[in-house]
Amino acid sequence: MTTTRFAPSPTGYIHIGNLRTALMNYLIARKAGGTFILRIDDTDPERSKEDYVDAIKEDLDWLGLHWDRVERQSERLDRYHAAADRLREMGRFYEAFETPTELDLKRKKQLNMGKPPVYDRAALALSEAEKEALRAERGNGVWRFKLDHERIDWADGILGDISIDAASVSDPVLIRGDGQFLYTLASVVDDTEMGVTDVVRGSDHVTNTATQIQIIEALGGAVPRFAHHSLLTGPQGEALSKRLGTLALRDLRAEGVQPMALLSLMARLGSSDPVELRNDMSELIDGFDVTRFGAAPTKFDKDDLFPLTARYLQGLPLSDVRGAVAAAGVPDDLAEPFWLMARDNITTLSDLEGWWGLCRDGAAPLVGDEDLAFVREAMALLPDGPLDGDSWSRWTSAVKTATGRKGKALFMPLRKALTGRERGPEMAALLPLLQTIPARDL
Ligand code: GLU
Repeated sequence: MTTTRFAPSPTGYIHIGNLRTALMNYLIARKAGGTFILRIDDTDPERSKEDYVDAIKEDLDWLGLHWDRVERQSERLDRYHAAADRLREMGRFYEAFETPTELDLKRKKQLNMGKPPVYDRAALALSEAEKEALRAERGNGVWRFKLDHERIDWADGILGDISIDAASVSDPVLIRGDGQFLYTLASVVDDTEMGVTDVVRGSDHVTNTATQIQIIEALGGAVPRFAHHSLLTGPQGEALSKRLGTLALRDLRAEGVQPMALLSLMARLGSSDPVELRNDMSELIDGFDVTRFGAAPTKFDKDDLFPLTARYLQGLPLSDVRGAVAAAGVPDDLAEPFWLMARDNITTLSDLEGWWGLCRDGAAPLVGDEDLAFVREAMALLPDGPLDGDSWSRWTSAVKTATGRKGKALFMPLRKALTGRERGPEMAALLPLLQTIPARDL
């Protein structure tokens, strides 16, 4: 059965960069009727925060990316110990004692000699006595996985056929000196034991994938299908600024971006399919195909989210936005006509407040000298009593007969007098909602 996972480290909020990872894994699982696991990669006790775990769940909930179960790496340390023991028994695991400074020096030397900066495996030559001495002097070493120096190949769902020479990669450290398991091992153990069949992640993980394939094979697991999506760039192809690269979903939410707008964009951006607004998750799931994504960096423009949000809101019935309409101050009995009037004229729900302010308080009339007499005459013809959906057409007909004006010369001054602006909602829908009409007092 298809099983995918989204595996954030709870060291920060979900941002626009890792949203793609979450979404793609979610869509693959749902399309196949499989399982989507939320895996919390919290092996680093110093950097992992419970608040971030809650925030990640809250953000995924907001997006509607519901998981089937949660796994936490911090609760699976015994599994990682067992895997480490097996690698040791196989002779694929060795302790190394170089300090970061020593490693740095080695790298610099290699680079100077025009060689790739690959760990030289000096630790393999240490005798037991030498290791004891180093341990006594420096504490426990790190544990490195001994790669087989052969080519590592896989058919990547996005990048196509990949072939990496293992000799060009350093033996990965899987356990730190302080005993902390690193992601590279923990992830492999989890993917294998949890039956993960498909892994989509950013292309910054390609080298990890190569080493992980060898670890999976050493441990006798099934290698999942891997796909690596390209990294996001700014609208002009420039590297995403620090600010934009870590643009948190909660900030977009605070700016009024709607989840379906965000999902519609991110599920297509960088693929050969056009970005189209989808109204619900099932449409996104049906149309999703990871192989349609390209390897080239993907341009992301935050501004694209707002027209999509506006279009999404236009299609919503009142029942979906009742809370926001009430929060804007609209009384219950006006909620329906208010929403139908306003929804075509907002970008985000926070714009509702402005339209309700106009209805409640009226706008300062915008009337040119040449229109003043006309507007006064028109206002005299506006009934005092309750106005309804037909009032606008009845009134403007009467004004037309009385003044002889028609078309734009008739309608525009009235709009400007009533709303204080040249553009806005349909007047027929707006007029009955106006609680105060300052233009009456001109
Ligand atoms: N915790 C890892 C990360 O956030 C997971 C990577 C993976 O999907 O394997 O980079």
